[in-house]
Amino acid sequence: MKASIIVHGGAGGWAGQAERLRRALAACEEAARAGETIIARGGSALDAVEAAVRLLEDEPSLNAGRGSFRNLAGDVEMDALIMDGATLGLGAVAVVRDVCNPVSLARRVMTDTPHTLLAGEGASRFADAIGFPRCDTRGWPLHPADAAQAAGDTVGAVARDRAGNLAVAVSTGGIPRKMPGRIGDSPLAGCGGYADNASAAVAATGDGEALMKLVASKRVCDDIARGASAQAACEAAVALLARRLGASGGLIALDRAGEAGVACNTPAMPYAWAEEGGVVGSAVGTR
Ligand code: ASP
Repeated sequence: MKASIIVHGGAGGWAGQAERLRRALAACEEAARAGETIIARGGSALDAVEAAVRLLEDEPSLNAGRGSFRNLAGDVEMDALIMDGATLGLGAVAVVRDVCNPVSLARRVMTDTPHTLLAGEGASRFADAIGFPRCDTRGWPLHPADAAQAAGDTVGAVARDRAGNLAVAVSTGGIPRKMPGRIGDSPLAGCGGYADNASAAVAATGDGEALMKLVASKRVCDDIARGASAQAACEAAVALLARRLGASGGLIALDRAGEAGVACNTPAMPYAWAEEGGVVGSAVGTR
């Protein structure tokens, strides 16, 4: 399958949540369409993945931004990453609170600081210093899946623009019942996401601790650089996740030629893609 953008709404359980899954799939389609519109106008892959992930962060049925899971203390602590495959430019935030669109704060870390990752209080101070829009996360209702799921519903996007540049963005509220201060794979380059024009753009979702141990996204990029197809590389990483660590998750990838890969070993992973010309497809990946 060829695509200019793929977005996902998280590899997870989704059992008994047909209506929420339907909403997640619709949000993925809207996000893919929004990203493709940017690319079709000559915009960058980086702008496309940021815009797509912002829409998913604004969708309350997904575990990112507004819909984030709460941690054991009842607080929302979010992680996000954005990476530009053309320059290896990278920005990420971890354990951020009171921000509706962490992916855009991650981009500001990339463009406005000499650093790549800001966490917690420092990230909040940076947000204040640049006048970044804040919102009160404490008032958000408990996520409907909070009690039922181990992981899932994180969001991510990979894109390839007309200049052939690749980019990735990832955003999450983490896993339910996580300890305060826990950071997952999502904001860590190579783990939750990676983009390099020399190989691919990849986004991961699922058991963050396991994805970190395998440096899953970089692993997929490296497989592709060695000649694997995007699809084969995603399937191999998911198989390794299960075989080596007994863990579950999913991956989406776009290679230099715009060939797509999608794989998961969870009961479901909603995703959508758009092709040049605006054609949008969507599916619920299943194991
Ligand atoms: N990977 C995310 C985390 O561990 C969770 C998810 O993808 O749903 O924070």
